[in-house]
Order: sequence, then structure tokens, then C-alpha cells
Amino acid sequence: MSVESSGDRVVVDAARCQGYGMCVGFHDGVFDLSPTSSVATVIRDRIEDDDRADVQDAILACPAQAISLTSRGS
Ligand code: SF4
Repeated sequence: MSVESSGDRVVVDAARCQGYGMCVGFHDGVFDLSPTSSVATVIRDRIEDDDRADVQDAILACPAQAISLTSRGS
């Protein structure tokens, strides 16, 4: 049975985010950090298979552990 991963959702916890911006460096099509904001935002929360590696890298790199990924249906 194959594992279908597209459609998972990524979330940034605004209470944890410290605005380091590393996530934007990993995937600027998913994360954004406005010059006028100290908190990153998710501009596209549905993660496709092509996004997964960069989003996982952002999760691991985030110094505030503010990024999480939830599976479809959870
Ligand atoms: S890397 Fe983490 S702390 Fe930095 S802006 Fe992104 S979510 Fe926020």
C-alpha cells in the first residue's frame, strides 16, 4: 500500500514563532515573513509531495519549534 502524503497541512504556531525567517528560506511558496511582522505566516497550507522535503527541513531547522505538519483527516 502506498503512502499518500499530498494534502497534509502545515501550521505555524504564532505564539512560538520568533520571526527568525529560516522557514521562508526553505520554502517561500509556503512560508512568508513580512518586513512589518515578527511572525511567519503560512501562505499555502496544503502541502503537496513536491513540497514535503523543504517543509520537513524547515520544521527541523526552526529554532522555536513553531512549525507542525498534520496529516489529512487528522
Ligand atoms: S523558522 Fe520558525 S521561528 Fe523562524 S519565522 Fe519560521 S516559524 Fe518562525
